[in-house]
Amino acid sequence: MAQLISLAQALSQPILDTIASTEMPHLTSRRQPVLKEKVLLVIYTGGTIGMKYKDGGLVPIPHALEKFLRELPILHDEEYAKKHDLNKRYGEHALVLPNNEKDSEASRIVYIIEEYNPLLDSSNMTPEDWAKIGKDIEKNYGLHDGFVILHGTDTMAYTASALSFMCEHLGKPVIITGAQVPIYDVRNDGMENLLVALLIAGTYDIPEVGLYFHDTLYRGNRVTKVDAESFGAFSSPNLAPLVTTGVNITVNWDIVWRDKSKQKFQVSTEMNQNVGLLRIFPGITATTVRAFLQPPIEGVILETYGSGNAPDKNQGLLDALKEATDSGVIIVNCTQCLRGTVSLTYATGAALEKAGVVPGADMTPEAALTKLSYVLAKKDWTLEEKKRMMKLNLRGEMIQAESEAKLCLSDSCVIQAIAKSLSLSCTEELGAVRDALTPSLACAAAKTGDIEALEALKQLGSHLFFGDYDGRTPLHVACCEGNLNAVQYLLSQGATVHAKDRYGATPLSNAVHFRHKEVVELLRKTGAHLSRDELNEAGVELCSLAARGDLEGLEIWILAGADLTKPGPDGQTALQVAQSAGQKEVVATFFSCS
Ligand code: ASP
Repeated sequence: MAQLISLAQALSQPILDTIASTEMPHLTSRRQPVLKEKVLLVIYTGGTIGMKYKDGGLVPIPHALEKFLRELPILHDEEYAKKHDLNKRYGEHALVLPNNEKDSEASRIVYIIEEYNPLLDSSNMTPEDWAKIGKDIEKNYGLHDGFVILHGTDTMAYTASALSFMCEHLGKPVIITGAQVPIYDVRNDGMENLLVALLIAGTYDIPEVGLYFHDTLYRGNRVTKVDAESFGAFSSPNLAPLVTTGVNITVNWDIVWRDKSKQKFQVSTEMNQNVGLLRIFPGITATTVRAFLQPPIEGVILETYGSGNAPDKNQGLLDALKEATDSGVIIVNCTQCLRGTVSLTYATGAALEKAGVVPGADMTPEAALTKLSYVLAKKDWTLEEKKRMMKLNLRGEMIQAESEAKLCLSDSCVIQAIAKSLSLSCTEELGAVRDALTPSLACAAAKTGDIEALEALKQLGSHLFFGDYDGRTPLHVACCEGNLNAVQYLLSQGATVHAKDRYGATPLSNAVHFRHKEVVELLRKTGAHLSRDELNEAGVELCSLAARGDLEGLEIWILAGADLTKPGPDGQTALQVAQSAGQKEVVATFFSCS
């Protein structure tokens, strides 16, 4: 309550004045939007979605999917592609989704298909294949707004889980999808799955590895394949969907996972393959368990009964487990049940903990196994740290230890006052008012660097990464103003450095434009980069700065990652411009940089 009062106070005059007087410096600094496009990379690894019958069985068919999609008006707008030179700008494998008539202003979703060779039935996938996907995401991260991975369903949950761990400090959507019936069949689920995965990845800031299937986006490391025959092949028993799609697309923003480390995105592809899944069953012998735990095994997911129980009357079995954990094998306790978590409710569960077994909360076997493989491969971590990591929630794969209690919306005196004057009563209406108001309030708080107000807004349940009517997020505003503390705070709350406003501007380009060097440095450390359009435009800026001999301006662009060799409007690079303008200091600095 105290925080709400502080919000009410914090939102009193200074912030309200700020809202009233907020200029929009970006409007003067940015071009008019020419083409609003989001660019996605589609990594096509194989799976039923692109299979056809051959010799009595389904097999993936190379070079057929892209050709097929190009002919489907629902998945490719040839007119737009021709009119706007799509293939010249993005290469021969680029396609573009059509826009709904009523959303003609929305960004176009361009997608570039990268087909793997060979295409695989996912039963043949190995950790090397996960690593290849991870590396391709890393390689293409800067030039794409998100990623869609086409994959077979059989091991999709394993790949989604593995990628969620491999992708460290992820800031863009990665959505894996596929189909139960090939896209070439008249009645299939592939077309819808691909289309909606593209729409979600190109529209919503959901910086997670998700799995989209049958009207639902799940967190990738929470799913398991539960049905080999129906379109609803997957289930996420311990976590609600991130997105559900019906007539409307509903995002469950409260549970979207955000990396709060303020570190650059990177992919860690090392996986330890000396791991295994051991399912306890009535009558399992100590000899079987001991044999399973022999070298080279280094980690085991023990699938136990109910809430984490194993026979505590079988001393031989407990001894075998204890010997293994004493010798450095990490054994993690996960339940065989589809839903629920392991706990120490029963003596049988406590006996396992005594034997050195680590509780695995409510992780799926797929998540637990790939996490163990990822954690064991970390060379800098000690055995104790690795065990600790297995108990820690790294990517939203397990139940949150400390739940971030949110104040109830109807407790807020500010929102209550607004609701009263507008005669709003139901929770949905209140939520809508909150969602409409708080982005602007948060932007105003970011402008004045008022962390207390930002914190109070957060407590109110508002999402500090939402944009206002112009798509400007509090991070954009804090970057324009050079409010380093506010930038730091917002990043620690998981604000995305990749947000683009209505004009395509990123927080980084805002900070560059207003020459906030420390902010630029912090954003770069967090993994911010100039967008494809901003990089293209940098040539013009660099040339004009070079012509004026503006070293400070040049330095900040370089810090932001601008390419010095990018030519300006008349084909000259900034160095050539500086030379012909006689800007000796600039020329000397360029040479010392190169
Ligand atoms: N066997 C196929 C695969 O996993 C099944 C599918 O795609 O649905 O590649």
